[in-house]
Amino acid sequence: MEDLKKVAEIVKEKGQVVAFTGAGISVESGIPTFRGAQGLWERYDPDEYAHIRSFLRNPEKVWMMLREMAYLIFEAKPSPAHLALGELERMGFLRAVITQNVDGLHHEAGNKNVIEYHGNHRWLVCPSCHSKKPFTRESLNVFPYPRCERCERALKPDVVFFGESIPLDAMIRANEEAKNCKVMLIIGTSGVVYPAAEIPYISKAYGATIVEINLERTPFTNSITDYFFAGSASTYLPEIVKLLK
Ligand code: NAD
Repeated sequence: MEDLKKVAEIVKEKGQVVAFTGAGISVESGIPTFRGAQGLWERYDPDEYAHIRSFLRNPEKVWMMLREMAYLIFEAKPSPAHLALGELERMGFLRAVITQNVDGLHHEAGNKNVIEYHGNHRWLVCPSCHSKKPFTRESLNVFPYPRCERCERALKPDVVFFGESIPLDAMIRANEEAKNCKVMLIIGTSGVVYPAAEIPYISKAYGATIVEINLERTPFTNSITDYFFAGSASTYLPEIVKLLK
């Protein structure tokens, strides 16, 4: 509790907070992480199903996983942790959320400056001609998968698969926010997916205080983290908001 009060004081004094989030923040919204031993990923190896090579080779197989993931995402609602970040932005402390998640829950929680480092699930895109259309529930009724109206190729959600590059705009904005923040909150990420995992190291190099919330320790914990809170983001983030009020 003392450490949490200290973090709230630092946030109050310095402001300029940036949150860097991962799959853990959406667990309580009903979306499992890749690496936890839960549901979806016991049946679908992400290294196999989330690689662009697998999609291009066999879109029908990968769409079985995408369809299940999409149902979870369409049903999900922001967790108390997402809502707390929305509140922190409205209170003027949080300047940006850099997220590795594709579920759109930071937008739903009211955050305006959200950098989606790994793309988003709101659009379907053609890997060949790059035309886009909204990813709606109706798209899930098209079997074996939705197709591009121009070139007939299998559409994919506009998310970054392994083997694809990070959207340039997101990369530039994320680097800027990482350099300029005074406090970085690392929330619910294992810190093993690169280049995303470089972001907190940039903030540390530019002098930010690093606060981490996770159920378990990560590569950040013993290297750059100043304050580590072991537990759920939905417990700690609302507490920080309460202390700031
Ligand atoms: P990860 O699965 O590698 O790690 C998740 C981390 O969250 C773990 O360290 C775990 O201990 C922690 N965690 C779990 N529940 C938590 C909670 N309630 N509070 C705080 N921490 C909690 O996830 P990652 O680091 O984001 O990397 C996985 C990649 O998979 C990302 O690139 C992301 O794009 C993608 N992904 C996204 C979603 C989503 O959009 N919701 C879901 C699964 C995977």
